[in-house]
Amino acid sequence: MQGLMQDWPLLIHRIIDHAAIQHGGRKVISRSIEGPIHTTDYASIRRRALKVAQRLARDGIRDGDRVATLAWNTWRHLEAWYGITGIGAVYHTVNPRLFPDQQIWIINHAEDRVMMTDLTFVPLLEKLADKLPTIERYIVFTDGAHMPKTTLKNAVAYEDWIAEVDGDFAWASFDENTAAGMCYTSGTTGHPKGVLYSHRSNVLHAFMAALPDSKGLRSNDVCMPVVPLFHANGWSLAFSTPMVGSTFVLPGAKMDGPSIYELLDTYKVTFTAAVPTVWLMLLQHMEANNLKLPYLKRVVIGGSACPRAMTEKFEKNYGVEVIHAWGMTEMSPLGSLCTMKPDYAGLTGTARLDLQQTQGHPPFGVEMKITDDNGRVLPWDGKTFGRLKVRGPAVAREYFKGDGGDILDDDGFFDTGDVATIDPHGYMHVTDRAKDVIKSGGEWISTIELENLAVGHPKVAEAAVIGAPHPKWDERPLLIVVLKEGERATREELLDFMRDKVAKWWLPDDVAFVTEIPHTATGKIQKTTLREQFKSHVLPTVEAAE
Ligand code: ADP
Repeated sequence: MQGLMQDWPLLIHRIIDHAAIQHGGRKVISRSIEGPIHTTDYASIRRRALKVAQRLARDGIRDGDRVATLAWNTWRHLEAWYGITGIGAVYHTVNPRLFPDQQIWIINHAEDRVMMTDLTFVPLLEKLADKLPTIERYIVFTDGAHMPKTTLKNAVAYEDWIAEVDGDFAWASFDENTAAGMCYTSGTTGHPKGVLYSHRSNVLHAFMAALPDSKGLRSNDVCMPVVPLFHANGWSLAFSTPMVGSTFVLPGAKMDGPSIYELLDTYKVTFTAAVPTVWLMLLQHMEANNLKLPYLKRVVIGGSACPRAMTEKFEKNYGVEVIHAWGMTEMSPLGSLCTMKPDYAGLTGTARLDLQQTQGHPPFGVEMKITDDNGRVLPWDGKTFGRLKVRGPAVAREYFKGDGGDILDDDGFFDTGDVATIDPHGYMHVTDRAKDVIKSGGEWISTIELENLAVGHPKVAEAAVIGAPHPKWDERPLLIVVLKEGERATREELLDFMRDKVAKWWLPDDVAFVTEIPHTATGKIQKTTLREQFKSHVLPTVEAAE
């Protein structure tokens, strides 16, 4: 028997409709790329998004066509997302921090028909344009007065472009499983892969993201996503914020400490989210200038592990609750958030900080399991670590054009590529990337844990741990270290420092000193390069074993 409730497809434009009806006058404040602060509201965002939809339709953009955006967080970018999806087309966010060759590859693979971009990226695109044959026109997020002379094909200022229509237009209607957005994974190995979100997945994910034990957003919050819309679907903030009607503050192109502080303070921001590097810059700025954060209540930190010292500073020195979050592009992207369940509500001091090192628990809509290499499910004891696999309505089931083949196991779980423990209360802790974890005599050693330990040594600036071949144990840890400027240290000195802090068999077999550790475009340590560099390194323990 079927239920007798209404068929109300979960379409993204319903979110901006709701925001315009229920929270129409709520402000959306942006730092414009041209410079000044710009203020609008949800009702106006919706009106102009309808013009974007109407204007795209007039340019012949249809259901399923991809429209690229290479842009910072501003009101225009937000309008564009709603306008594009409102006719069944697909926003495709391009990350300006990728190398030009990767950007070219991604845009061609996605076969984007239109490129919407900021003034910042016009010179870059002029250099790439010859290699982007699918792009029919470039729309620059600015007005006629600020529009530069450019060689870009059919280039037009956004304000002039939408002024050509009257906005008397209705959203298209279609199935909720229609594609809505696209974001490529960074592709540390091989080509980037396209993740294709649907209207349904984005709407359900926005509900999950806004829940009280997730971001806990409310209409009386002032929400500032510092995380860019081009990073992993903008952590859902373009959807979950209008859904609840919070005031929205968009930081534009400036993400340095002083600029971010100015917005947090001036607009009394209560909620914000970004990767650890952004917060490092903000904390340094506040410490150097003896500043406080009287309005900020919660900060979501994710994308890579949030350092313990950062959590401690935000909470102790500034009275801001840190929510450590984990996720990935393939998960829309939120997977888990570290908020306190009643089981842990009483934790204080070091014990609370210990728990906040975990990436927390998943909201409804994300199922998790950890398994060994053979797919056998492992216990949730907070100690056993295994491959982290996830399932849910906002998790990818396949990459764009089928790249990467079959990505789900027999039960429909997606392998995240992370290695993690899960404790009896469901708190997940990422211990490594699966391709980096060291397998020594059948047991796994976490490279992240050894690296964190090594950087705790006062002379160490940066550390990386990789597995080096070993005849008896298959692999043993090799610690690679960059010392702080002017410092000297010996192998024994570093190993002695670590000796009583890890299980004996986790202690690295050797230490190599280097002047630099290679990084990827998104700032993560490039272990593939390190493994190549040290492939003929002979551990001192090898001879003893032979
Ligand atoms: P990018 O490499 O562009 O950041 P993703 O956002 O998809 O692409 O990266 C997802 C990966 O980032 C996760 O699989 C995980 O390895 C890592 N990650 C994300 N959040 C955390 C976190 N809080 N702690 C540790 N690792 C994290």
